[in-house]
Amino acid sequence: MSTPYDLVLKGGRVVDPAAGVDAVRDVAVRAGRIAAVEPEVEVDAAREVVDVSGRLVLPGLIDTHAHVFEHAVGRFGLNPDLVGVHSGTTTVVDLGGASCMSMGAFKRFIVEPAETRIFSFISIYPAGEGHLSPEIYGAGIDVDLCIACIEANQGFVKGIKVNAEIGSMSIYGLDKIRKAKAASRATGVPLYVHFGELFPAPENPRVPYDIDAIVPDVAGLLEPGDIMAHPFTRHPGGFVDRNGRVHPIVSEALARGVRVDVGHGSHFSFEVARKVLDAGIVPTTLGADMHGYNTQKPVDPGTPPTHPDPEMAPFGGDARFSLTHAMVELLALGLGLDEVLPMVSSRAAEGLGVAGELGTLAPGGVADVSVLADERGRWTLSDNDSNQVRAERMLRPLFCLRAGRRFDADAPILPVPRAA
Ligand SMILES: [Zn+2]
Repeated sequence: MSTPYDLVLKGGRVVDPAAGVDAVRDVAVRAGRIAAVEPEVEVDAAREVVDVSGRLVLPGLIDTHAHVFEHAVGRFGLNPDLVGVHSGTTTVVDLGGASCMSMGAFKRFIVEPAETRIFSFISIYPAGEGHLSPEIYGAGIDVDLCIACIEANQGFVKGIKVNAEIGSMSIYGLDKIRKAKAASRATGVPLYVHFGELFPAPENPRVPYDIDAIVPDVAGLLEPGDIMAHPFTRHPGGFVDRNGRVHPIVSEALARGVRVDVGHGSHFSFEVARKVLDAGIVPTTLGADMHGYNTQKPVDPGTPPTHPDPEMAPFGGDARFSLTHAMVELLALGLGLDEVLPMVSSRAAEGLGVAGELGTLAPGGVADVSVLADERGRWTLSDNDSNQVRAERMLRPLFCLRAGRRFDADAPILPVPRAA
């Protein structure tokens, strides 16, 4: 007799873009791996059977943009399991919290104790990211040290984060992007570039920069696999120029293999999203970009505020958010589930170099599974400009399996859908 299954998810709608599956299937798990995906799995010998009929059973969701260096980088970092397994997301990519100076602490104090799977995109800046000052975003870059850190953390550091926003570009210019690109080229990991204003341009810039030159200048330096972030930002310096036109170079970059990550954050605009989508730009991946300034969290004693000058702290937004809610917004904008799901599964895994292992439910792979409620009705969604759109489909995380272990989606930061 064969070893019994540890768990069978019975009768859910399995959608696995990587395997080309969209059908009612049973999913069997054994020893932390997917053991079978079949129309009917024999459950007699299973230790546990969960009825998931009417639910979506998906490859464990991958959030390609998170900030989870908790207790570091000011109040920017969130608890990884809050945005991860307790929000129905099995894998998160920390975007620039850890640097060559703090990578050891990040792994020891955050990654090791976390239940959520974590990868790092290392900050090119030794201070890491906390959005406290534009001076930090270019000071003291040591390309060799960054390369050495990436090489010492192969398989964990999957990319390099750099910011192309007017505040720091007016101090360091393209030089800092070129340095980040040099580290990326030497290590073979992609560059992830933030676009959209974080800090205003200083009155006397060291490197005078036209905000609408940032996207064309930087896109020209990017190679296949590199990532342009925040296509739907309402802040200047993004994909849409001051005259309301989408920079043509973005489509050209996409055509030669550059990727686009939503990086939802606290600057998401339905209006900009419509404009960018209408220009034929569909994001490759969907990062929720939740952090300690846009998501409610207890603040550590002694942590400074975002910035005493409100001009320097352009943050805000919903205190409750989730990757699943970002998926709902893209569906409400007219994208299909077949377009949105690969962004948080197959294409995300591909970009991390873990396709076949993560982002799929193929038998033999790790049993990372997300189970969502999929409801029809009428709900109102708001963006960060308080513009509203109507949603007729609501996805809600119910639970996930992380290497076969079950976690309920009970994070207090999960949004409560608002009926229209
Ligand atoms: Zn971010």
